[in-house]
Amino acid sequence: MELVERRDFLAITSTVGAAALAGCAVRCPPVQTGTGGVVSTDLSDPDVLVGWAWRDEESSLIEAQEPDFEVVVRGCSDTDVLRLRARPVPARLDLTDVAARMARTMVDASGVGIAGPQVGLSLRVATLMLDYKTDKPYTIFARNPVIIERSDETVDGYEGCLSIPGVGGKVRRNNWIKVTYENEEGEKITTEAHRHNAVLWQHEIDHLNGVLYVDRLLGELMSMEEVRRRRQELDKLPLEGSHIIPGSERLSIRGRLNRIWPGIHLG
Ligand code: ZN
Repeated sequence: MELVERRDFLAITSTVGAAALAGCAVRCPPVQTGTGGVVSTDLSDPDVLVGWAWRDEESSLIEAQEPDFEVVVRGCSDTDVLRLRARPVPARLDLTDVAARMARTMVDASGVGIAGPQVGLSLRVATLMLDYKTDKPYTIFARNPVIIERSDETVDGYEGCLSIPGVGGKVRRNNWIKVTYENEEGEKITTEAHRHNAVLWQHEIDHLNGVLYVDRLLGELMSMEEVRRRRQELDKLPLEGSHIIPGSERLSIRGRLNRIWPGIHLG
């Protein structure tokens, strides 16, 4: 299959100098698999909460009562959480406040997604602003999301990350996925996601497994200035052309929507 660049660049708004770019060009260490704390075979079991506890560093964050969390940025102190496999969330664990704070943090950081580890919580939770390319975006809070099916068809795009500010790079993702997760009310949801939503889900679920987009990078990291420049070049291309994956007619239409969100953080 011919894979070619598409026009939706997921950009970070700030520009970076050469020094900052060089610093971020260092590849991350291999993905580690932490123990994940308490792991249950049945998260819907009410008794699972028995014996479950926040870690000390998480308790500090929870009890801080700040309106927002701070985003854990790679390269700063205490960033191991970004490389751990986050632990599952018990069904009865009340995360109402956590969800509200994560949503505020995401919006304040100009992101469209944020995962638990990005706010210092090694939990399998994520906040996602779905349909963010449209004029009707909506935000969900997902607990224990799992990708249960993927398309063979892939799409290349430029991603940025709140935890790796100032740079972006090309990543190949599945163009369609089916996901299960639990919503804030604990209901089991099964949903399908295409294109931008699918990329967002994959980016956030990667975070829950200690994976960053730079681990999947095609080519080099680049400054967001360069990402914007490439995006502008692609915007000049006709919608029906080499930047469209063959056989995906709908993508050409949706491509125009990218112009609504010229510079965003993926999550
Ligand atoms: Zn990210």
